[in-house]
Amino acid sequence: MATKNQPQKGKVSKITRLTAFWVIACLIGLAVISLFTPGGNLKEVPINEVVSRANAGKVVKLDITGNDIEVTVKGEDRPTEKTIKEDGTIYDQGLKKDAKVQVNVKQPSVAGDVILSVITIFLPIAIIIGFFMFMMRQAQGQNNQAMSFGKSKAKLYGADKKKVLFKDVAGNEAAKQDLEEIVDFLKFPKKYEQLGAKIPRGVLLSGSPGTGKTMMARAVASEAGVPFFSISGSEFVEMFAGVGASRVRDLFSKAKKNAPSIIFVDEIDAVAHKRDTRGGNGREDEQTLNQILVEMDGFDNETGVIVIAATNRADMLDPALLRPGRFDRRITITLPERADRLEILKVHFKNKPLDSSVDLDKLAAKTAGSSGADLANIANEAAINTARANRKTITGEDVDSAFEKVAIGPERKSKIMNDKDRELSAYHEAGHAIVGHILPDSDPVHKVTIIPRGQTGGVTWFLPPEDKSYTSVYEFKDILARALGGRMAEKIVYGDDGVTTGAGSDLKHASEMARSMVTEEGMGSGLRNQVFTEDRDFFGVVKPYSDQTAEKIDEEVAKLMAEAGKRAEVVLAENRKYLDGLAKVLLDKETIEEEEVGKILKGTTLPGTAKLHN
Ligand code: ADP
Ligand code: ZN
Repeated sequence: MATKNQPQKGKVSKITRLTAFWVIACLIGLAVISLFTPGGNLKEVPINEVVSRANAGKVVKLDITGNDIEVTVKGEDRPTEKTIKEDGTIYDQGLKKDAKVQVNVKQPSVAGDVILSVITIFLPIAIIIGFFMFMMRQAQGQNNQAMSFGKSKAKLYGADKKKVLFKDVAGNEAAKQDLEEIVDFLKFPKKYEQLGAKIPRGVLLSGSPGTGKTMMARAVASEAGVPFFSISGSEFVEMFAGVGASRVRDLFSKAKKNAPSIIFVDEIDAVAHKRDTRGGNGREDEQTLNQILVEMDGFDNETGVIVIAATNRADMLDPALLRPGRFDRRITITLPERADRLEILKVHFKNKPLDSSVDLDKLAAKTAGSSGADLANIANEAAINTARANRKTITGEDVDSAFEKVAIGPERKSKIMNDKDRELSAYHEAGHAIVGHILPDSDPVHKVTIIPRGQTGGVTWFLPPEDKSYTSVYEFKDILARALGGRMAEKIVYGDDGVTTGAGSDLKHASEMARSMVTEEGMGSGLRNQVFTEDRDFFGVVKPYSDQTAEKIDEEVAKLMAEAGKRAEVVLAENRKYLDGLAKVLLDKETIEEEEVGKILKGTTLPGTAKLHN
């Protein structure tokens, strides 16, 4: 989903423009009126003061309109002050009858008041209508079709579009095999009919974003040579009553007319979450989903339409969706393994000229956890790097910096750090690197740099040696300790209160990890083998455990964090001379690779108190 087009902003509709015009007109009107309202910029003084000055002969004229009074003081020829009297006459307020002041009582201007109240009533209404129009446009206008209620926005990928075939989808062999079967159903429906076999109606592809679900669905269509209609569940979320359902109807009728064909519903979880976890647009989602189900229930063996839906939240789906005759075929698409990552990288680097310094195998090794979309992104960024440097072939360096950019964000070479910050950064990263290097269950250091990147002042990379499916408590604890290594290095070098915000995101990640160890993985020492998952209902988060347990969880998390901090600190204090040494080289070279880190850290020792096992 990473490469999907962003919805475009629709054209400003005529109605919106009209509304905007009226809102602006009203605002201008209001401004003009306040400008001409008498007493607009006069100094406000208390009535008592005015009265006593008038009695003392220091005021020449009082212009009274209702309870508003404009005051012309002696020596001025027009009002410079204003005040407000209580109900009753000015004489009731204490003005002496014989005071030497001219009193003019004017009728309040009815017209002005009427205009003012009309505006105060209608302006909010106009604003509300304008806002409503705006929202409507947002919901409707994404494809520049401001008012096409109920028409399906399904896109038909025709023959002109570059075809995706199974061979373009690397890895996921099992999923492809299952889908080959669907292709066969679409190509030779007779074969199945004759044997009385039921042709599947719905296939659910579940897997993380960017793992190629859309690609696979498109590949099914092109392998079978049938039209492909696609629509995304998230498009329905912002719709008005009834629109989602009518779009679904429209989409299915188009697909049936073009049968055999494929309907692809991306992000179906957006409309099909379990009833108890339903968030967002409740009833509308339900109607949309029901319409999809009704349409599918109406299929028969001759319909020739197969619905492929994609989700990354299979656990959240409404079970009604998974009943026989609906999405009863389920295919899981996993994140690619190392070998598959290599295949995907090969696909995306295929037409790109590579220098001999590019090692795709190594890149595959260090991209554990990346999706196909991430890998495609790296290939593209690498090519951009090369083109920007006006070179013809892609080098290992182009690929490396593309990888790092995709993983953390672009380098900020231009951001000049002052010397103190650079030194702090060097110690901080050296802290991560040394703790990671020394603790036995942490991965080896791959690279350390103090070139600022994205939001960080530097980065230390660790290289997972192989794809790992499981992580032990030992490993988690070492990862926690190395995450705190940066902060602890700062503490050792600059003292308790010399530590900085540079460790903010380290601490956040570490705390989240410690919490999930306790609540999700059953790894708390006193809460071993229990999990504590929060639920959500209409009113918010629900904890299916007692307050005492919540307290225990907090204690366990705090204990893990304290232990990790202590271990990091001990390791660094014991190896202080290496901390200084590595920081110094970092200040000098900015970036140090795996091999050199190994050389610099040769001779470091693991203190007994930081050991977890032998
Ligand atoms: P999803 O629908 O699962 O979010 P997409 O099918 O939209 O993922 O994949 C996004 C992009 O990632 C694709 O256009 C393709 O470039 C790349 N990609 C993902 N998986 C693979 C794969 N297995 N082989 C090759 N490219 C892939
Ligand atoms: Zn850090």
